[in-house]
Amino acid sequence: RELPGDSRTDTIPRQVFHACYTKVSPSAEVENPQLVAWSESVAELLDLDPKEFERPDFPLIFSGASPFVGGLPYAQCYGGHQFGMWAGQLGDGRAITLGEILNSKSERWELQLKGAGKTPYSRFADGLAVLRSSIREFLCSEAMHSLGIPTTRALCLVTTGKYVTRDMFYDGNPKEEPGAIVCRVAQSFLRFGSYQLHASRGKEDLDIVRALADYAIRHHFPHIENMSKSESLSFSTGEEDHSVVDLTSNKYAAWTVEVAERTASLVASWQGVGFTHGVLNTDNMSILGLTIDYGPFGFLDAFDPSYTPNTTDLPGRRYCFANQPDIGLWNIAQFSSTLSAAELINDKEANYAMERYGTKFMDEYQAIMTKKLGLTKYNKQLISKLLNNMAVDKVDYTNFFRLLSNIKADPSIPDDELLIPLKAVLLDMGKERKEAWISWLQSYRQELANSGISDEQRKVSMDSVNPKYILRNYLCQSAIDTAEQGDFGEVRRLLKVMERPYDEQPGMEKYARLPPAWAYRPGVCMLSCSS
Ligand code: AMP
Ligand code: MG
Ligand code: MG
Repeated sequence: RELPGDSRTDTIPRQVFHACYTKVSPSAEVENPQLVAWSESVAELLDLDPKEFERPDFPLIFSGASPFVGGLPYAQCYGGHQFGMWAGQLGDGRAITLGEILNSKSERWELQLKGAGKTPYSRFADGLAVLRSSIREFLCSEAMHSLGIPTTRALCLVTTGKYVTRDMFYDGNPKEEPGAIVCRVAQSFLRFGSYQLHASRGKEDLDIVRALADYAIRHHFPHIENMSKSESLSFSTGEEDHSVVDLTSNKYAAWTVEVAERTASLVASWQGVGFTHGVLNTDNMSILGLTIDYGPFGFLDAFDPSYTPNTTDLPGRRYCFANQPDIGLWNIAQFSSTLSAAELINDKEANYAMERYGTKFMDEYQAIMTKKLGLTKYNKQLISKLLNNMAVDKVDYTNFFRLLSNIKADPSIPDDELLIPLKAVLLDMGKERKEAWISWLQSYRQELANSGISDEQRKVSMDSVNPKYILRNYLCQSAIDTAEQGDFGEVRRLLKVMERPYDEQPGMEKYARLPPAWAYRPGVCMLSCSS
């Protein structure tokens, strides 16, 4: 529904019907905006010469104060389920797309400013973002990419020079915080909720669901668009049901299955590095299978399956670490039921997509855990015993796996020496717990011997999947504390370290340390959605 006047500055909060987006320009107030950090690898993706970062108008463009020449700024219209409940229209309340860049490889990259001011979807909020959450999003986007996990990227971080009021603080008092804007980059920011919203609005909007499905397939899944019947791909739905779902006969079914499988691989990769998203609402689920929307996320320090980084997620812990695989499936169920409602797929195809999610997740998860242990075949019992031991002794997830590559297969090493390579992570243990670990290590060593891989070879391959450096919440917090004092050196150093998570980086060992005691205070290991 177009309102009278200049649509580019139209930010009146409202329900926007029959539309996938609204044209709106960034309107965040800025005062002497500063470029504080940027990603060279994203610049490369965009064919952006590093000299561009030195342009005096760069911070103006990337804070939205000057126009992005050739761009057509807009905000996307989407809804979603929040914490399992349908929440209606939600966004995008503070992300404004500037435009798309077509790079020399003919890849299309969308640039989006997060925190650049109100849109018609801002509801009761201000459309802005604070420095602390922008630093977290900027760093984690790039850290995840370097870990090899699909994610939206971050080109740069700009401070606005203005203050933003946030009221959800631990003492209950509002606080003024520095404002900042991240430029996010992805091939598409479409979410499950982009489809759900239109289906929720009644039959006449199902055409929009279909058009948006066609758009996504044409632009982002061209192999499905070009899939011909002659390729005769067919898949069995499992042993108990011998019916076959022929994915070549319905491109929308093939698409749903691919979205389900990409989501399954994404979640499996999160489990591998201990990443907990914190807000897996359906509006935060990318159709490309990217990690999207870095809010109250957290990486596991001590292994705890029930860990949730999000204070809003207590006490239900719907989005805790161990629940992520089930939540991914729940979200796929919502997505496929939306496509069923639009009659793009039938019930059998929707069920099949969910089944494929389960199979893909198990395959990927087992492969990841097998690699983390340096084994050649999946050993369920060994892995579940290990995770159980780790939970009992609150063992650091990252550092444990990194040190595990120092275990030797040699059966002549005496029992009391078995624990030596792990002594930095197996702390303060009584006799009984020590025995439990020795017993596990004996079985593990046996498996290593059976694998026939040399200790040296195994260490190289384990260290290439078990990161030494991850973006722990306390590291982010240290960078935030100094940045709030005007010193961005730590943000930039952390970015450099996290760009090479699997490498030994002499001199940078302090970034691989276990969290200090202060890391357990609220606001560091647990975060609110206030951002
Ligand atoms: P989230 O829970 O972070 O996924 O956010 C849900 C929706 O609220 C998204 O569409 C956001 O754009 C919107 N939102 C979050 N914070 C703000 C804000 N400060 N101003 C306007 N909209 C916001
Ligand atoms: Mg979101
Ligand atoms: Mg968010």
